[in-house]
Amino acid sequence: MAAADDLPTYKDVADAAAVLAGVAHHTPTETSRTLDDQLGVSCFVKCENMQRMGAFKFRGAYTAVNHYLNDADGKELKGVLTYSSGNHAQAIALASTKTLGIPSTIIMPTDAPTLKLKATQEYGGNVVFYDRYTEKRDEVAQKVKATLPEGTVFIPPYNHKYVIAGQGTVGKELIEDLQSKSIALDYLFVCVGGGGLISGISLAVKELSPKTQIIGVEPEAGNDAQQSLEQGQIVHIETPKTIADGAQTQHLGDLTFDIMQRNVSKIITVTDEQLVDEMKFFGERMKMIVEPTGCLGLAGLRKLVSSGEIEKGAKCGVIISGGNVDLERYCKLISSTI
Ligand SMILES: *Cc1c(COP(=O)(O)O)cnc(C)c1O
Repeated sequence: MAAADDLPTYKDVADAAAVLAGVAHHTPTETSRTLDDQLGVSCFVKCENMQRMGAFKFRGAYTAVNHYLNDADGKELKGVLTYSSGNHAQAIALASTKTLGIPSTIIMPTDAPTLKLKATQEYGGNVVFYDRYTEKRDEVAQKVKATLPEGTVFIPPYNHKYVIAGQGTVGKELIEDLQSKSIALDYLFVCVGGGGLISGISLAVKELSPKTQIIGVEPEAGNDAQQSLEQGQIVHIETPKTIADGAQTQHLGDLTFDIMQRNVSKIITVTDEQLVDEMKFFGERMKMIVEPTGCLGLAGLRKLVSSGEIEKGAKCGVIISGGNVDLERYCKLISSTI
């Protein structure tokens, strides 16, 4: 069980929204007639690929760094340490170093996507590499932390009260924007890696639109969250081999798992081929570059429509979580049969 003090609530999400006002973008919610016609439902697509640094992760990172800057115990924040395969790395470097002037050290896998690595370094992040298939990143993080000055805080990518609260503002914005047009979602499809995004969003949705069912979507190769919810305990897996590099997590966190158990209706999986199909759909039809992980939500919705589990005319929200993919890799993915 997660300690109650560490668990964020809706109030933390609302506080994060105030912290992020004017700092993070209020991203658009797009619709597509073509998509609605294909699926026979009404789709509302929340575009976090349009967020600063190209993914929702900026919200959580900035909210957490800001928390330590203004921490009540008055200790000076000397630096931020984290590990990430990409988007959280960029988010910490942008929030901490570029925006707030606090040094950041980021542990990244040697095979991190080039675009994400370059952007992290450009935002001023100090990158340390590790081999994600042979080394344990927690152990690497402990070793690196010992070399950094006192007053350095570790901000993990998902299992953290203020990271979750920050990510939750995606859900708050989406629900409030739709409510201002008198639209109530029946379902909301959210990608799942370590569960920071879906658990944060679920806090907002359960408060503002409690009837909306939240459905998590994972890559088929790494369905640890699905197994975890089914078994009632956090299941650990090997680093999954999937093109969805933002969802290559090995396990949920105690905080994200606790919230997901309460708020998420179910978790489904999709294949890499289905992700590529949605990359093509977003590119051709909605004129958006979406990274593979960002396609999980729409791929999940399409799967449940095909299997008849979503009723015709349902109002369905879909989160696009990010758009960071180097163009070379993008071209290869959309032109190949993987
Ligand atoms: C991090 C990330 C995810 C997964 O988010 P979690 O909070 O780990 O579940 C999904 N998509 C993108 C683009 C990401 O960067």
